[in-house]
This record gives sequence, C-alpha cells and structure tokens, in this order.
Amino acid sequence: MINLEIPKKFKPLASQANQVATEVFRPISRKYDEAEHSYPKELDMLASLIDGMSEGSGSGAGAAGVRRESSNDGDGNRNGSNLSTVLGIVELCWGDVGLLLSMPRQGLGNSAIASVASEEQLERYGGRWAAMAITEPEAGSDSAAIRTTAKLDGDEYVLNGEKIFVTSGDRAELIVVWASLDPSKGRAAIKSFIVERDNPGLKLDRLEHKLGIRASDTANFTLQDCRVPKEALLGSSEVEDKQGFGGAMQTFDNTRPLVAAMAVGVTRAALERTGELLAEAGVEIDYAAPALCQPAAAARYLEMEADYEAARLQTLHAAWMADNGKPNSLQASMAKAKAGRTCVEVALGCVELCGAAGYGEDELLEKWARDAKILDIFEGTQQIQLLIVARQLLGKSSAELR
Ligand SMILES: Cc1cc2nc3c(=O)[nH]c(=O)nc-3n(C[C@H](O)[C@H](O)[C@H](O)COP(=O)(O)OP(=O)(O)OC[C@H]3O[C@@H](n4cnc5c(N)ncnc54)[C@H](O)[C@@H]3O)c2cc1C
Repeated sequence: MINLEIPKKFKPLASQANQVATEVFRPISRKYDEAEHSYPKELDMLASLIDGMSEGSGSGAGAAGVRRESSNDGDGNRNGSNLSTVLGIVELCWGDVGLLLSMPRQGLGNSAIASVASEEQLERYGGRWAAMAITEPEAGSDSAAIRTTAKLDGDEYVLNGEKIFVTSGDRAELIVVWASLDPSKGRAAIKSFIVERDNPGLKLDRLEHKLGIRASDTANFTLQDCRVPKEALLGSSEVEDKQGFGGAMQTFDNTRPLVAAMAVGVTRAALERTGELLAEAGVEIDYAAPALCQPAAAARYLEMEADYEAARLQTLHAAWMADNGKPNSLQASMAKAKAGRTCVEVALGCVELCGAAGYGEDELLEKWARDAKILDIFEGTQQIQLLIVARQLLGKSSAELR
C-alpha cells in the first residue's frame, strides 16, 4: 500500500488521536450504538484533552480549530489547522464516527464560528459547543430554499421556522441557525445566527432514530418568536452583500474535507479488520503481484484499498489547500464525493468479503456499513458534490446547471 508520511509536526497529534480511538472509542463503540440517545459521558474528559491538544499544538485538533488561512506565507507549503484536524478526525473515526460526532465543542457550528465569526464573537462564543441548523422540511440539498425568517426588532432578531436533522442539536450549547432576512431577496438574504440552546423560543420537537451513527443525537426544532441579540448574526447583515451567502457556503470548503476525513477513517477501520479476517482465513495479499494473479478475495481487497488511498489523498489535498489560502471548492467537493462513496462501497464490500462474520454483531463491520451511509449524505450528498464539481469544471453557474 502507498503510505505517504504525514508531516512530522502532526505525528504526536495523530498518535494521540489513535490512542484515544483505540482505548476509549472502540471499547464503547457497540455500547452507544445500542443505547441510542444516551449521552456518552466518557467523552467529557476527552473533550478537555482535545482542547488541550489544540492549545498545545497551536493548531486545531478538532472542528473548532478550522480557520481558513488568508494567504500563503511565502514558503509555498504550510501545514496548518485544516490538515491537523483532518488527520485527527481520520484517527478518531477509525475508532468510531458516531462518538466523534458527539464530542463536545467539535460540532459543525464550531467550524462555522471559527471560519466567519468576528473577533468579538469568537471571544463570546468560542470554546462552546455549537451545532449547525440549515436543513428544513422543504430545504435540504437546496439550502437557498430555506423558509426560516429573521426579522429585526429593536436590538434583537426574531427567528421563526422549523429546523430538522440537527446533529448534536440536543446536546450542544449553541445552535448556528440559518434564516432569511427577507425571503423575497433569495439567497443574498440568508444569514446565520447563533442561538443559545436554552433560548425559550427554541423548542425541541423530537430526536431521530437512525440507521447508523446512533451515538450521535439528531434533533428537530421549532423556532417560535425566538429572540437573539443583533450581535448574534455571523458576518455582514447587508442583504446586498454579495459575499453573504457565498461566504456562508465557503464554510463548506473547510468542512467538507472534515466529513471526507470521517469517511476515510471508517474506510480504514473496515479495511484493516477485513485484512485481519482474511489473513486468519488464509487469504494472502501479495502487493508485488498483479491483482489478477491473486485469489478473488485478495484482488477485491486490493481494489478497495486503492479506492481508499485515492480518497485519503484527495482529502489531505483539499485540507492542505485551505491551509495555504488556495481556493479549494472543487477539491473539497471531489474529496467529499470520493471519500463518501468509497466509504459506503468499501464498508459493504468488507461485509461481503467476510460473509457471516461481516454481518453479525460480534464484529463491528456491520456497524461500520450502517455508519458509512450518512457520510455520503450530510454536508452535501454525493449527487450535490458531483453537481458542484461539474459546475466548476464546465464553468457553469448554479442557475445554469442544477
Ligand atoms: C443523521 C443526519 C444528520 C444530519 N445533520 C445535519 C446537521 O447537523 N445540520 C443540517 O443542517 N443538516 C443536517 N442533516 C441534513 C442533511 O444535510 C440533508 O439530509 C442533506 O443535505 C440532503 O437533504 P434532504 O435530506 O432534504 O434530501 P433532498 O435534498 O430532498 O435530496 C433527496 C435526493 O435527491 C438528490 N438530489 C437533490 N437535488 C439534486 C440535484 N439538483 N441533482 C441531482 N440529485 C439531487 C439528493 O442527492 C438525494 O439523493 C443531517 C441529516 C442526517 C440524515
């Protein structure tokens, strides 16, 4: 297998994350898959450790550390918070992706705050756990179709609407809510607002029961005359500001590689365990011989491993570009599309190769196959990523190619 070395400065971080995955995540992986909706309290201590790792290394170990670099510092090769976060996430998701998604202070809302918040907002909201609420019953892939409104009333915005499928929505302290200042003005009027979870205008409707990532809570909310201070608006309040919606969408250029990294971690977990089970069954994988000259199981394994390597390298590349201030919309979507699809195909392929052992609950392979699918859905589905890639390659706008 190609095994490119990771930058030396990130080795301690990756190895610490791997240790956490091995010693904390894996032993409780099945427990919280079965005990859906119970909070994995073991994570509290870990979250503090990750905070310490981020402070100590000067670069983010978690989602809260992702902040786009504005320019290259001239040496042409900066390995910063995006790459370190990706490397940490890969290791932790090799342990358990549902538990990673349940880590306090590492929500996608934290990435949004880290990416676009002003210094004052960072001071006020930084270091707190933030979920992200974009999706609504009538707005999923087409996030410009959201109907939640925000009306200015004195020094406050009043939010009204419905939000569904909010990861960590029940457990987080803050929710970054997308709402429109003026629905007649389309996407330019869509802004994000930081809402305190205990705001009386934010009502939890229900928690979802899910196929996979069952350790992670997924909440549905109603916002009813939910008042937030004017300062809770992230970014500019100008509707005419062309950067508004685009700026919010740019957050995804940072977060898509993170979700791709989750997929890379789960894929590696499935491949590694399958490799061990194949070896126990006497199937040898010969890296020096062509796949066609090997047993069918070994050839299939090699094919899946090659896909995994491609997904991993694309993910690292997209994160590295963000660290170096390079526009990476195309690469971030390519990485998310490739890693999401690879994860689903490989996790199911591993179940297939391992037969009954792959399907039974004695192994985690069946769980990984269930966990995998969401990584190809949230943060933009497979189809939406391909659409973004096609638009970029063909030079078409979202109105021209939809
Ligand atoms: C477990 C879980 C956690 C989630 N967490 C969050 C969260 O924290 N915050 C949040 O805001 N949202 C979250 N989501 C929502 C998620 O981002 C959406 O489910 C996703 O964006 C797809 O939207 P949708 O479900 O409405 O599907 P739709 O948009 O209705 O799409 C249905 C199908 O049609 C395809 N499709 C749609 N448009 C096109 C097109 N133009 N071309 C080709 N195919 C198309 C899609 O790819 C998909 O296969 C979560 C979802 C789940 C299941």
